[in-house]
Amino acid sequence: MKTETLCVDCKERLASLEEKKLIGHEDRQLLENPERVIQAELPLRRDDGTLEILTAFRIQHSTKRGPAKGGIRFHQEVDPAEVAALAFVMSLKTALLDLPYGGGKGGVQFNPKEYSTAEIEQVSRLYMRAFADVLGPHKDVPAPDVNTTPEIIGWMRDEYAHITGKDEPAIITGKPVEKGGSEGRGTATAMGAYFILKERFAAQAPQEVSVAIQGFGNAGSILAELLYNDGFKVVAVSDSRGAIYNEEGLDIHAVAKHKPERNPISKFDGGSPISNAALLALEVDLLVPAALGDAITTENVTDVKASVIIEVANGPITTGAEHILDDRGVEIIPDLLANAGGVTVSYFEWFQNIHNERWTEEEVNQKLQGMIADSYHRTKQISQEHEVSLRDAAYKIAIDRIGMPKHS
Ligand code: NAD
Repeated sequence: MKTETLCVDCKERLASLEEKKLIGHEDRQLLENPERVIQAELPLRRDDGTLEILTAFRIQHSTKRGPAKGGIRFHQEVDPAEVAALAFVMSLKTALLDLPYGGGKGGVQFNPKEYSTAEIEQVSRLYMRAFADVLGPHKDVPAPDVNTTPEIIGWMRDEYAHITGKDEPAIITGKPVEKGGSEGRGTATAMGAYFILKERFAAQAPQEVSVAIQGFGNAGSILAELLYNDGFKVVAVSDSRGAIYNEEGLDIHAVAKHKPERNPISKFDGGSPISNAALLALEVDLLVPAALGDAITTENVTDVKASVIIEVANGPITTGAEHILDDRGVEIIPDLLANAGGVTVSYFEWFQNIHNERWTEEEVNQKLQGMIADSYHRTKQISQEHEVSLRDAAYKIAIDRIGMPKHS
């Protein structure tokens, strides 16, 4: 496989960090390409008896700090360039949080919505058979990602046990709580972002901080409730069909009761409907993109008026838009840190499995808060010391931990 086409964005990011003298040339050389790219062809027997060959990948970007860690996605657009980019991000995220992990990612190129449950189970088991040699609680620990449900994770764990003759729950994370999963995993991403915001806005009364949240799904809705419970003024939230706005602050519990998963959020009667574009342009203290990648681009960045943005979604700001926001002094809390609560609680799950422990939700959240708050303060300190953005600082911290030993 040609490595020059893998992870073009990672290469650009590393080149820019080297240019700014935040990382060394050898770190860049070391991290530009994944350590291992494994491709497998999975022979799926369809329900109608025909044979279909599906292409699957496992990419281990780095195992220098510990087992590779990262999800497996089932999607028709899975390709090695995308999987490598996601594996690179996982190496950085685990290093930034100082977890004893590297980074990896995997996927199967197919649309599970067009396949029966029995076929999806077969794909899940074939995936484990194809990659069992390179996976393991101390080699590479997968997790759910796009379209890989707890049921799929259960089949994968079961297949790995068949192959090795040993049932090891720590082979995979994201398991249901009753099957070795961790308390607090479902809320971990939002909790992580919330703990960062508590630190960031510690000097202000919450009711003086206005917030707009794009996306009211798993991450966005839980974060909205956490902020609302603390007294933050959440003035707008949205789903894919529109947004709702109330200058005085929305009653987030009432919005959640309105069942936005079934009823468009714009039909909620405790505020005025506005467009998704208008939500991004609101004059708020804090903007939370928690929906999709590339939400803020060079096309709409000039409309953005928030002074702080926390990237709960992965990659919601394009590089072009980021430069413009940086020049305007907008503070961006980068995705690497902002949504790292998820992988941190995955680590807690793995740790509990290995040590045969069960932590309460309270213990999980307490440990998460400590680790996330430390990483946030370290990122802030490096950003101030080097006079760079929080994103560049987060990359520098992570790369210093993964990269080549420094000569004195
Ligand atoms: P989700 O599918 O539960 O929710 C997504 C929400 O965004 C939904 O409310 C949807 O209606 C809304 N949405 C979609 N398009 C929109 C648009 N154009 N404008 C406004 N809203 C729109 O997803 P999630 O699990 O909450 O994840 C959200 C983001 O956070 C994703 O980028 C994901 O990669 C990232 N993330 C999530 C986790 C996690 O543990 N949930 C972890 C890391 C990163």
